[in-house]
Amino acid sequence: MFKSQYLQKVYSGVEARNPGEKEFLQAVREVLESLEPVVAADPKFEQNGVLERLVEPERQIFFRVSWVDDNGNVQVNRGYRVQFNSAIGPYKGGLRLHPSVNASVIKFLGFEQIFKNSLTGLPIGGGKGGSDFDPKGKSDGEVMRFCQSFMTELSKHIGADTDVPAGDIGTGAREIGYMYGWYKRLRNEFTGVLTGKGLTYGGSLARTEATGYGLCYYTEEMLNCMKQDSFKGKTVVISGSGNVAIYATEKATQLGGKVVALSDSNGYIYDKNGINLDVVKQIKEVERGRIKEYVNRVSGAEYHEGCSGIWTIKCDIALPCATQNELDEASAKALIANGVIAVAEGANMPSTPEAVEAFQKAGVLFGPAKAANAGGVATSALEMSQNSMRYSWTFDEVDAKLHDIMVNIFHNSYNASKKYGMEGNLVAGANIAGFEKVAEAMIAQGISY
Ligand code: NDP
Repeated sequence: MFKSQYLQKVYSGVEARNPGEKEFLQAVREVLESLEPVVAADPKFEQNGVLERLVEPERQIFFRVSWVDDNGNVQVNRGYRVQFNSAIGPYKGGLRLHPSVNASVIKFLGFEQIFKNSLTGLPIGGGKGGSDFDPKGKSDGEVMRFCQSFMTELSKHIGADTDVPAGDIGTGAREIGYMYGWYKRLRNEFTGVLTGKGLTYGGSLARTEATGYGLCYYTEEMLNCMKQDSFKGKTVVISGSGNVAIYATEKATQLGGKVVALSDSNGYIYDKNGINLDVVKQIKEVERGRIKEYVNRVSGAEYHEGCSGIWTIKCDIALPCATQNELDEASAKALIANGVIAVAEGANMPSTPEAVEAFQKAGVLFGPAKAANAGGVATSALEMSQNSMRYSWTFDEVDAKLHDIMVNIFHNSYNASKKYGMEGNLVAGANIAGFEKVAEAMIAQGISY
């Protein structure tokens, strides 16, 4: 139940219009709860119907993606692009390729993206897309045929000044390359229509590292400002072993932390001596193998089946970097009992609402995804800028901009939490800081749709 009748009415409307979409409803509820004091302080949001408009995507495109597998059989997947909000810039957000993708997942991600993109301070609106296609176990030829079929439809709805998709789970450099090549062929234009591109055709240096590095820059600033502390000498547990987890491991280690665990959707590895990242990169980035292979190459390391056990490992800092709702209340309580001091989300919405509440009650520093993992999309926006300028910045130039953006995101969220009497509640702070800019822009632009 919301205290504000206006917010209750908005949320009831979302429930009625999107029945059974649990991830989307969870994301909307969390944001609306944070906005109670903002809405109470100024009637203009209600007068301008800002929240009713914000929770309804501007446009949703669902489409058939048919392709032929290596055995000559026709396969059919469903493609999605949800263009959620363009108040402050062209739609921007990744493409997720995973069997769990459905309308609810894409809408929750697109909704979150609005606030995350706003927090970066860069001119990008919110969107998200993907398909229930699973690239795992597919040949390069199958992935290419899928990507070409997917892009044939998607190309009608995107553009460098309209909507600029990027990677996400299952969409890495290979998939972006196939999609970009097909878009270029269809349109006969070389524009920055996708980000996460390879360095030989318009990609940005430091984009690969950006989400994981940015997560650690944010966490370091949170520790520094709220606890006069840092990564130095800390034990760190990171879930996942994909793009975000790998580069979070790299930066956390550079900052003086010791990362002792990583996982994939089958299980987790524990290496008390600190993860050897070269071995992980070889297994995951080169061989596209499973994380359990690590124990065959590094002596003393352990492998355990199942994902949630990773949160029972004693650590000072936990960085969930795999997927949504991977860290529940029981896992949060295990981390708290083991003395965790900071949790920051590399994945999107990895902690359940009950887990977030447990961390906040226990006084654990908690950095929510839309702030802590915004480094990826921020660097994607820097890739768009470089494409528009027909110019490339050096790795260090991009990394320095990323660092400044993450530090600003932390302080803007922290200051918003103070302004509304919730000092240190970075969940509310991020939602409020992200919301304010988008809401002002929506009001200024009138009620066009
Ligand atoms: P990847 O596909 O590179 O890696 C995902 C990792 O998470 C893999 O290790 C995967 O294991 C694991 N995983 C997937 N599903 C589950 C599950 N149900 N349980 C446990 N582990 C699982 O994706 P990214 O690293 O790019 O993305 C990870 C998260 O970060 C996502 O939530 C994404 O939305 C978010 N994110 C990513 C950004 C980016 O720039 N890449 C930017 C901002 C957010 P397996 O190999 O077994 O599937």
